[in-house]
Amino acid sequence: MDDGAPPPGKEAFKVTPWEVRGKIDYERLQELFGTSPLDEPVKARLRRLLGTPLHPLLERDIYLSHRDLPEVLDRYERGDPFFLYTGRGPSGEVHLAHLLPFELSRYLQQKLGVEFWVQVTDDEKFLFQGSLSLEETRRLGRENLLDLLALGFDPKKTHILFDTASIRSLYPLALKVAKRVTYSTAKAVFGFTPQNNIGSIFFTAIQSVPAFLPSARAGRPVPCLIPCGIDQDPHFRITRDVAEPLGYPKPALIHNRLLPGLSGEEKMSSSAERKDGVIFLNDPPEEVDRKLSRAFTGGRASVEEQRRLGANPEVCSVWALWRSRFAPDPKEFAEITRTCRSGELLCGECKRRLIPRVQQFLGEHARRRADVERWVDSAIVDGPPGGTA
Ligand code: SF4
Repeated sequence: MDDGAPPPGKEAFKVTPWEVRGKIDYERLQELFGTSPLDEPVKARLRRLLGTPLHPLLERDIYLSHRDLPEVLDRYERGDPFFLYTGRGPSGEVHLAHLLPFELSRYLQQKLGVEFWVQVTDDEKFLFQGSLSLEETRRLGRENLLDLLALGFDPKKTHILFDTASIRSLYPLALKVAKRVTYSTAKAVFGFTPQNNIGSIFFTAIQSVPAFLPSARAGRPVPCLIPCGIDQDPHFRITRDVAEPLGYPKPALIHNRLLPGLSGEEKMSSSAERKDGVIFLNDPPEEVDRKLSRAFTGGRASVEEQRRLGANPEVCSVWALWRSRFAPDPKEFAEITRTCRSGELLCGECKRRLIPRVQQFLGEHARRRADVERWVDSAIVDGPPGGTA
């Protein structure tokens, strides 16, 4: 969504599931999207339910917006548990920004014991990305799953919808969704043109199914909560529009702000020209060192100036990593932020402190990934993708 003519003194920006342009004003984006802020009363409620402090992703405003979250919490407190649904479009390797919705899902599953459904849209990436074969999106889909589930999900409460493998379970509900979505709605939401292939037009029906499948299986309404990047919100507007006419609860959403790229982009993105702006989960230690050493910061032009005036963490890609995952201790995070602002901490020292943390995380993650190999195929609904596509 474009912010059109911005208010006086504000910059224009654009946020869609495919494109982020300009400096995002998150407050204004929430107004434009019509979402609700994840404000103090909602957080206080989450603290009562989940314990204090909340996960840093919640406590530090990385999750900043929602749709209908209090309704899901109301039902949970009345003894009606929700399930979590998030997804992955396998167009390449997994990087740190992809972990945000999965990390929140892992935390909520661990704290509340709720079921987690993950959809791997190998069909979507095949249809929308001309250069990728179906064999490649399937291969990437399974590899990506190992990376994402290695965050530590409960195998007994994790269900995978791998689109081309789980189609028997997906298709009947996808048809019911498709019958309720007109071409003009899909065109308005996704901006289709006459050049789009016909598969891409149907795809939104497939993406809606995981929000309803647990209700269809249980034979009663089961509330759904979808953690996702705020740029992905348009994908679920159609899902929410068709939910009640189909007899299912509208899925609630909780949105994260976008993790900035290491080269100063608003969004960490693995498009080819930005490879140095991204930490992939399979980056070797020397690559982590090289990328972080060059990362864009909020530092000043000289040491003298930084000592005197302090730096600006809010625009710094290194601080965004501390904030998201690498300084879990609130005291340490507060100290990094304070000394950055005061000029006591210099950017070189700050990066040297962060690099081994990231390397250690990736090393441990690779070991946990091997454990997921043991159970991942048995969690795929209808069985793993096998044979040739
Ligand atoms: Fe970023 Fe650290 Fe420099 Fe602050 S001191 S601007 S957090 S690199």
